[in-house]
Amino acid sequence: MTQLLLKPRRHSVAVKVDSVMVGGGHPVVVQSMTNTDTADIAASVKQVQSLAAAGSEVVRLTVNNEESAAAIPHIRDRLAAVGCRVPLVGDFHYNGHTLLTKHPACAEALAKYRINPGNVGFGRKKDTQFATLIELALQYGKPIRIGVNWGSLDGELVLRMMDENARRDEPWDAAAVTREALIVSALDSAARAEELGLPRNRIVLSCKVSGVQDLISIYTSLAARCDYALHLGLTEAGMGSKGIVASTAALAVLLQQGIGDTIRVSLTPEPGGDRAKEVIVAQEILQTMGLRSFTPLVTACPGCGRTTSSFFQELAEQIQAHVRSQMPIWREQYVGVEDMTLAVMGCVVNGPGESKHANIGISLPGTGEAPVAPVFIDGEKATTLRGEHIAEEFKEMVEDYVRTHYPRREALAG
Ligand code: SF4
Repeated sequence: MTQLLLKPRRHSVAVKVDSVMVGGGHPVVVQSMTNTDTADIAASVKQVQSLAAAGSEVVRLTVNNEESAAAIPHIRDRLAAVGCRVPLVGDFHYNGHTLLTKHPACAEALAKYRINPGNVGFGRKKDTQFATLIELALQYGKPIRIGVNWGSLDGELVLRMMDENARRDEPWDAAAVTREALIVSALDSAARAEELGLPRNRIVLSCKVSGVQDLISIYTSLAARCDYALHLGLTEAGMGSKGIVASTAALAVLLQQGIGDTIRVSLTPEPGGDRAKEVIVAQEILQTMGLRSFTPLVTACPGCGRTTSSFFQELAEQIQAHVRSQMPIWREQYVGVEDMTLAVMGCVVNGPGESKHANIGISLPGTGEAPVAPVFIDGEKATTLRGEHIAEEFKEMVEDYVRTHYPRREALAG
């Protein structure tokens, strides 16, 4: 008997981020971050809207100066005015204690504060500035994410741990000490936040690094040592396919172990590229792993020498684009449509077989095959398309499948 290898979700304490629950067995939350100047209210509102429309359930913005702190409540209001209620997280480095103190409307408008123990403050100021941030979170009733990052790790902590390591009978290598320092920084900061009165259900932890194996090692250990909700992400994952592959490799291994309550895919956008791509990639990681469903996915074969025309590639692309553009409408109207599966296959070798596994699939004619395209619905051959309008007819069949196989929301509500 074959067995699914997906481990049960690790137990974590649930954290409420406005309307979104993180951890505690709730579905893994998809997050993203803007790259606009937060002080540019119009641009930031537009990008938050775009990220939320793509499916980002939480959006983080950097709050790095007075202007951006002052902009946050306006961004919140303008989003509310257009019906966008996605929780906003403020990302603070160095001066968060000052900005949140001086801008109460910002502190109020944000749903969560992300702070980095490595740069909350330096020397003697570190403890007092950290305490101020926690007091502000308590005052405004907000959760925090203690987000440790490889690139801004607490230097004093690393030095102390390196010294301790040097006194070991069998010292660890420097990379192992640094990995441990990330975890200790997160756990010590969380313990300090609790001492200051912040309950566990208002604390999320992250320890981001840019190496896949380092990330897996750190989170595996962190997950075993605490029950805080964990935010996963490979920091500075990179551009294009490298960023997607590295993020997927790292996150998939951890998610497979049941580790991770919320994820972000940190892609460097290509010039002029769409920031929302990081949201789609995060959703696709979760959906292809069977953890959540967001939008129907299209299975398509890679093509080979049996498909000398690009017709099936174009059809697969058209169908995926059609599904994505229709999904906001379908989601409003039909229950469960996000679980639909589609297949667009290039020839008779695997076409009928793969199409039968999908809810609706089409097997296009390969080179030298009769110019006909059988369509399968729930494993049964439903019809054969031929001629010039295969793409339009198949799209219409997909629409018909949605109409006839998923209950309408209003019917269920009634
Ligand atoms: S289904 Fe046909 S066209 Fe597609 S990869 Fe397989 S053999 Fe090639």
